[in-house]
Amino acid sequence: MSDHIVESISSVYKRISHAAMRAGRDPLEVKLVAVTKMVPPEAIREAVDAGVRLLGESRVQEAKEKIAVLSGVLPDTVSWHMIGNLQSNKAKLAVQLFDMIQSVDSVDLAKRIDRYASEAGKIQRLLVQVKLAGGESRSGISPEGLIALLEEVGNLHNLVVEGLMTIPPFLETPEDVRPYFRRLREIRDGAEEKGFKLPELSMGMSGDFEVAVEEGATMVRVGSAIFGRRLYQ
Ligand SMILES: *Cc1c(COP(=O)(O)O)cnc(C)c1O
Repeated sequence: MSDHIVESISSVYKRISHAAMRAGRDPLEVKLVAVTKMVPPEAIREAVDAGVRLLGESRVQEAKEKIAVLSGVLPDTVSWHMIGNLQSNKAKLAVQLFDMIQSVDSVDLAKRIDRYASEAGKIQRLLVQVKLAGGESRSGISPEGLIALLEEVGNLHNLVVEGLMTIPPFLETPEDVRPYFRRLREIRDGAEEKGFKLPELSMGMSGDFEVAVEEGATMVRVGSAIFGRRLYQ
């Protein structure tokens, strides 16, 4: 096993704990999703050996290949999370592959997922992705549209929405991202006041997860701080 991955994971866990304690939170409230896009199966296995149980992938096809290679190798307690933009023609495969889909941002997509979950005899766990900034290119539902979406999704019986996810705009300084994390928490609190139960807040990546934890993240999605820089071809 490469010491590098084990040490990085232990350092990330420590930083999560410290951030939680600074905010007066129980560190056990925060789950680490190791983001494994572009990461080869062998390194994923090392991360799981080091204790990681949640794995995040952003492309369905890539996830499919890795899950096939790793089937029977990883313990059953490992769960795969879809964290990338999900095209509707990949929804069926996503339902087959992922324990949780974090990137649902439209009623149409939710309905499709519901239909495939029904066919698969599965209750699909979801997060709703909220767009707080970033122009047209970013996915996510607008904060104004969230309640209507939650109401419609509440009528679909093969889905359970467990919380909200966001990808804030890229900013150099983690402190500058704080208002976006706080905003997602406030939006969640507002929705809970209207009767929706949304315990999970998926926010924070390698550059800013400590700030996200201070602002209430229950899932942080960390890739490069564990596996090193991704080499894009
Ligand atoms: C790639 C990715 C991450 C992890 O990014 P790092 O900066 O490598 O930690 C988190 N969330 C999403 C949605 C991603 O696509």
